Amino acid sequence: MGMKLLEDRIVRDGKVKPGDVLKVDSFINHQMDVELFTEMAKEWQRRFAGKTITKILTIEASGIGIACMAGQQFHVPVVFAKKAQSINLEGEMYSAKIRSYTHQRVYDVIVAKKYISPEDHILIIDDFLANGCAVEGLIDIIQSAGAAIEGVGIAIEKGFQRGGDMIRSRGIQLESLAIVESMDPETGKITFRE
Ligand code: 5GP
Repeated sequence: MGMKLLEDRIVRDGKVKPGDVLKVDSFINHQMDVELFTEMAKEWQRRFAGKTITKILTIEASGIGIACMAGQQFHVPVVFAKKAQSINLEGEMYSAKIRSYTHQRVYDVIVAKKYISPEDHILIIDDFLANGCAVEGLIDIIQSAGAAIEGVGIAIEKGFQRGGDMIRSRGIQLESLAIVESMDPETGKITFRE
């Protein structure tokens, strides 16, 4: 079930762009509604109740705000994977290659080894799930560190793209707060998965 507060906000303020892109700049990706983020974080806490989570992992830049509010609810540190300028890592970093959905290019992301340990139980948080490249990169990093992946919390999943199936088929708990089933750039109409 989707989170009604978020779905209503997407319908009210989201803009459907060509190329299957949903713009939510007025409350997530540019201006941020932190009170909405707090409600989203509480919802993830309900959905991941009973799981031990020691750390939240996200990716810069757009995941950071949401992940911070989640960190506050779960009382754990938040680490964000950094987009690397040059790969000159000398063994102190975990890295993964990610294909950017919105910018259509490949870049490296890195996390310093000292911030993920084999004892960690990690919750991945991000704003959007499309083809799953970003989450897959974060999963790779967690696995390189030998830490446990407790789940993935996403604000908006585009259910007609393949990221959701990829994560669920790996047996990872995925909690998307709104799952867009279809969106039409002509009419602006957005429908959600029940
Ligand atoms: P994926 O790696 O799953 O293909 O894409 C996820 C990443 O691309 C997210 O971190 C998000 O920043 C960006 N993204 C993918 N689709 C959309 C979209 O429709 N709208 C926005 N604003 N960002 C998106």
